[in-house]
Amino acid sequence: MNLEQKIKKLAEYINKSSNIVFFGGAGVSTESGIPDFRSSSGLYNNQEYDEPPETMLSRTYFFENTDKFYDFYKNKMLYPSAQPNDAHKILAQLEQAGKLQAVITQNVDNLHGLAGSKNVIELHGSANKNICLNCKQFYDVNYIINSKQTPLCKNCDGLIKPDVVLYEEQLDEQTVSSAINYISGADMLIVGGTSLAVYPAAHYISYFFHDGKQEKKSAIINKSGTSYDDMFDININEAGIGIVLSKAYDLLF
Ligand code: ZN
Repeated sequence: MNLEQKIKKLAEYINKSSNIVFFGGAGVSTESGIPDFRSSSGLYNNQEYDEPPETMLSRTYFFENTDKFYDFYKNKMLYPSAQPNDAHKILAQLEQAGKLQAVITQNVDNLHGLAGSKNVIELHGSANKNICLNCKQFYDVNYIINSKQTPLCKNCDGLIKPDVVLYEEQLDEQTVSSAINYISGADMLIVGGTSLAVYPAAHYISYFFHDGKQEKKSAIINKSGTSYDDMFDININEAGIGIVLSKAYDLLF
């Protein structure tokens, strides 16, 4: 199948589905100007800092080098001017149309929420949620950006920690089980902007394929091919996810 045929097929499947679940990664936000961690131009190839991101974004580093953590975090993890792209927007429209039940994302950039998606499961938390470790007061991302150095609580001077899953930290159990419930129950799974290489993403996806029902449909849209492509009814790596979803959307209804 060429790209056009694949997109037509994708639209056909979306038309027939009413319980679509989308599972996405960094590639969904690259069209919004947020670099993919693991791409060649991404954060993991950055030479600006002495320590690798895996160290600087770890729980130990947060507590032992809080100032340096925030310096890196604010510079490299926060993109306050990033706006939702076509992928985020189409997914929000599919939800509104009653087709899509949940967006599950590995991103912490809140762009699905900004695009209008209501049911977003943020596996790695959200940079827009920050909590005082002392009195549990919540702060949004602007409070972090606007604090000159390490952000401290207005009420109690306590240390504020982003509600994102750092290295050495576990994913929230309830969030994970909710994600797995949606994936198992979906009649169509669309995976986008992730190579599924980072554990445990592929593990979650496997819940969709467990019972192997024929009428269930699946699609994966990722810039580079993945080792899971064969499991999916449609795999697209010829075009970006924003373009693919908007072209498919134009063929719907
Ligand atoms: Zn506080």
